[in-house]
Amino acid sequence: MKKKSRILVTGAGGFIGHHLARRLKAEGHWVRGADIKATEFEASPADEFAQTDLRLWDNCLAATKSVDVVYNLAADMGGIGYITGSHADISRNNTLINTHMLEASRQNGVQRFLFSSSACVYPQYKQKDPSVTPLKEEDAMPADPEPGYGWEKLYAEELCRYYKKDYGFETRIVRFHNVYGPLGTYDGGKEKAPAAVSRKVAMAKNGGEIEVWGDGKQTRSFMHVDDCVEGMLRLMGSDFSDALNLGTDRLVTVDELIDIVSVIAGKKLVKRHDLSKPQGVRGRNSDNTLLNKVLGWEPAITLEDGLTSTYRWIESQLQKTGKICGSH
Ligand code: NAD
Repeated sequence: MKKKSRILVTGAGGFIGHHLARRLKAEGHWVRGADIKATEFEASPADEFAQTDLRLWDNCLAATKSVDVVYNLAADMGGIGYITGSHADISRNNTLINTHMLEASRQNGVQRFLFSSSACVYPQYKQKDPSVTPLKEEDAMPADPEPGYGWEKLYAEELCRYYKKDYGFETRIVRFHNVYGPLGTYDGGKEKAPAAVSRKVAMAKNGGEIEVWGDGKQTRSFMHVDDCVEGMLRLMGSDFSDALNLGTDRLVTVDELIDIVSVIAGKKLVKRHDLSKPQGVRGRNSDNTLLNKVLGWEPAITLEDGLTSTYRWIESQLQKTGKICGSH
């Protein structure tokens, strides 16, 4: 990337896009943010912010005017309840966003384009055991991804490869594994496990109950958003154009995640498992061999440190909105 670039961040009204825009601004770049919604928790640091629907071709063409670099983070997505219950909406919306954003970026002479893919592209048949073997990039094929969301991500990855092959258009593909941190959605149904757990722990009385989706033995790895942003910048600075995992490889159960947050909150809670709720694949972990090889780096923020700032932020939001009182 040039020292001072003109950069478009789509999804800049959302969680990762907002953190990325802040980091890019801090590094002295000129940043345009684009999103269908405004930022929720603090003003966007972007020089320009377009509130625009990127499913529409004309809007993608306008958003990609006069920029050198695009980080395409806009997507219709959410936690496990939303992802498993809205296949048609998610697939249609994200197909429109990604195909239009790629072509508009190419037509406008963008020099480098990052597509935010997901660990949801990995086959379900490789994720049936909580002590899952970490997933390598090549494991994505033969395909059996998460219905809806995962299929669309896998197809959009392929589209990026075609753009690189047929047009020499510089694409980068990153597969995030469960990103968490402050300033993320923490209620309303689109929140992910670390935010949902933090909210539930903050709202529970010491000695009280906490509802857990599934049996709590499902496993995941979690990455702090600051590591996620660092990894994206490093990937964009590299010449690696195939898909790359970006996550941690520390596997924890959802029950363990609750235990870590409970310790941070100083609460003892009884878990009530609701087996009728969706829990996603049984286990999922990132194999970071290729990440280390390509970037000479991997995420380093511990879950305990990352969850401490996340929990404190969610707790303060709940206090601010009157959902819990200060002494809870
Ligand atoms: P997010 O929901 O906070 O951000 C996505 C943003 O896209 C939202 O602000 C949303 O309003 C915007 N958007 C949706 N439809 C749009 C449209 N039609 N036009 C313009 N903007 C639109 O999610 P996030 O966690 O910040 O995720 C960013 C990217 O990373 C997404 O592509 C997501 O699929 C991917 N990802 C995230 C995770 C994670 O754990 N957070 C994991 C894997 C992949």
